[in-house]
Amino acid sequence: MTTIPPAFRSFVSENEPLSRHTTLAVGGPARWFARVDGREDLRALVRHCGTEGIALIYLGAGSNVLVSDRGFTGCVVRLGGAFCEIDHEVLDARAIVRAGAAVKLGKLLRYGFDHGLCGLQSCAGIPGTVGGAVMMNAGSKLGEMKDSFLDCELLHRDGLVEVRDREAMRFAYRTSSIGADELVLSARFNTTRGPVDALRDEVERFLEFRKATQPLQFHNCGSVFSNPPGDAAGRLIEACGLKGARVGGAEIAEQHANWILNRGAATATDVLALIQLARNSVRERFGVVLHTELRLLGDWTADEIDSIRETTNDTSYSRGGGAS
Ligand SMILES: Cc1cc2nc3c(=O)[nH]c(=O)nc-3n(C[C@H](O)[C@H](O)[C@H](O)COP(=O)(O)OP(=O)(O)OC[C@H]3O[C@@H](n4cnc5c(N)ncnc54)[C@H](O)[C@@H]3O)c2cc1C
Repeated sequence: MTTIPPAFRSFVSENEPLSRHTTLAVGGPARWFARVDGREDLRALVRHCGTEGIALIYLGAGSNVLVSDRGFTGCVVRLGGAFCEIDHEVLDARAIVRAGAAVKLGKLLRYGFDHGLCGLQSCAGIPGTVGGAVMMNAGSKLGEMKDSFLDCELLHRDGLVEVRDREAMRFAYRTSSIGADELVLSARFNTTRGPVDALRDEVERFLEFRKATQPLQFHNCGSVFSNPPGDAAGRLIEACGLKGARVGGAEIAEQHANWILNRGAATATDVLALIQLARNSVRERFGVVLHTELRLLGDWTADEIDSIRETTNDTSYSRGGGAS
């Protein structure tokens, strides 16, 4: 039987409930859960899983994922320690900021302001990590990760590290070229040096607006669907009369129809059922196919995955490709 040897046990636990590591607070246990603080341990673990055929999933802050109630039979990797570091290099009027993959976007934003660096405002209000946000090209009205992105370091399953630049990232709306078997280790961002007060004020106004308009009192994962071209997923779901619709402990938010809330005891299956309901209703009523921004992770069945995905090119499911 494949296993994780004792050498890794200081940072790998067994049967860890993934509901503790997702902002929706749903998801079953991971057979193994690794909190990895340094590159040597990470490389050794990834190589071991490769040799043993243990599937891997990479998790950031868990703010854009729906993990199956069955959990995951492989190993979930979450970065910490040395991957939480930030520094910068000054080049005349510019500075390049380098952030580890586990740095929270709020911390990166504050770092920029504290050091008089402008250009990181796309991080505002997004509760993810640098790794997850770069992978997703996260963004808002203030911009997207791609705007200031310079390059990132990626770890492949064979232990090799690649530096991928902006062009090779093929950034588009909430996607990039990063695959499920590639792990972001760090990323570098372009900034300009100068007074930050006006930008800080703009960011603060934006954060106040979000606080007033988002249903943050319950566990959630932000927007569930990407906006279709020229429209808003929330508007379409609301027009189908689905605000407040419930399955089990999950609810389509009254305040924002593109959000699903865990009202206390929701399961991932409840959330999936609401995603199917919203998707089917919008397609029937408007002929518009909504695509999930949320990523399905873990041991979902093929039928469950197909129920919320239109084409085989849809990347909203990433079980972790196992090890070859
Ligand atoms: C209250 C709230 C508000 C939000 N607002 C926004 C918003 O305004 N704009 C927006 O774009 N999103 C928003 N989100 C969604 C989410 O915060 C972003 O998509 C964020 O970028 C996800 O980062 P994460 O670290 O949580 O990634 P996770 O949710 O942990 O993972 C997301 C995907 O990235 C992969 N991944 C994670 N880390 C790495 C890594 N180091 N290397 C490779 N792959 C990795 C995972 O395998 C998964 O496929 C919001 C979420 C919440 C809960």
